[in-house]
Amino acid sequence: MAKFFLRKKIGDRVVNGHPWVFSNELGDHEGSFEAGDIVEVYSYNGSFVGKGYINPASQIRIRLVSRQKDEAIDDQFFYDRISAAWEYRKQIGYVENCRLIFGEADELPALIIDKFNDYFVIQTLALGIDKWKSAIVSALKKIFQPKGIYERNDVPVRELEGLPQQKGFLSAPFDTNIILHENGLKFHVDIENGQKTGYFLDQQDNRRAIQHVVSGANVLEAFCYTGTFSIHAAHYGAKSVLGLDISENAVATARKNAVLNGFESICSFNAVNAFDVLKQWGKEGKKFDVVMLDPPAFTKSRENIQKAITGYKEINLRGIKLTRPGGFLVTASCTNLVNPELFLKTIDMAAKDARRKLRQVTWQTQAADHPILWHVPNTQYLKFLIVQVL
Ligand code: SAH
Repeated sequence: MAKFFLRKKIGDRVVNGHPWVFSNELGDHEGSFEAGDIVEVYSYNGSFVGKGYINPASQIRIRLVSRQKDEAIDDQFFYDRISAAWEYRKQIGYVENCRLIFGEADELPALIIDKFNDYFVIQTLALGIDKWKSAIVSALKKIFQPKGIYERNDVPVRELEGLPQQKGFLSAPFDTNIILHENGLKFHVDIENGQKTGYFLDQQDNRRAIQHVVSGANVLEAFCYTGTFSIHAAHYGAKSVLGLDISENAVATARKNAVLNGFESICSFNAVNAFDVLKQWGKEGKKFDVVMLDPPAFTKSRENIQKAITGYKEINLRGIKLTRPGGFLVTASCTNLVNPELFLKTIDMAAKDARRKLRQVTWQTQAADHPILWHVPNTQYLKFLIVQVL
């Protein structure tokens, strides 16, 4: 197995537990290797740091999977890691649907597995983990006897690893339109063509958090995707709910979800650009009791953080203006590039521009089946805020 040595003058990040080793952090190496192989990493003075998969084509050159020198990285290793992640989910109470593997937070960098009851959706986002796909599928079959396993590797980040974008069955084919249950409600999920893995499990606890503020309210939800927050609002007693999303497919599924739960007379959905519509309604002086916003990330790169902040500020400014005095704004951000402090600052700036004051109701993060490791800061990515707009 090839050995790599960290440069002398790098910080302690890797030694202290962060699994990524960047190309500019590596000095000499000994032995030959192929892209995607497991290699060993040592500090400059020769003490063992860990082992992980290497990809010379990637800026994140090595992703560490183990800190134990004699731990074999083989099929059994992946079975054990997935079993441990499942035991943890069961312990914290996320069983029927959960993010079973949340990459770095489950010590399996670049691997995502969502469990939708008996169905599993996988993303292998680095070459090193992609090579173990069949071991991962075997482990899932052994632990869960799933009704179906599907690969949603149709994501651009794979190209940074020299991997093709692709999707398809990793088990016998099955009907990829499934229904999942959450908080006593039912939702259509399109595993094959939905966004990301098909459903945003990270908001499952936050959907419950709107319970009291939506009761009896006229609600607007922008960026509603398949209407999950809207349907929850109706369930918690909203008088009317209007959901907006730019995707025709998402809106069609949202309408189906309203029917599935018997809320078609309360919820309606339109396929529009939320930026345009919210701006227009603001000018017209329209008001809602509750405005909910869960926009996309706006940026994928650190260089473009300003673009994301501009987007968050604009949409929240529009949302605040559309909230009647004493009403509530429910707002979220799903990129780790904007940290919690910066997100709150952005909402504060939006409120000041709108000349409104805010009273904080709820401030939380992603559901606990997406664990946050304090020594791997980018495992925290979701921000979720409810404020009263005075
Ligand atoms: N809250 C949802 C997830 C929202 S994801 C849930 O928990 O299920 C963000 C959504 O914003 C996507 O559905 C995407 O189609 C939509 N979107 C992106 N740009 C938009 C725009 N300009 N106007 C309206 N919707 C947009």
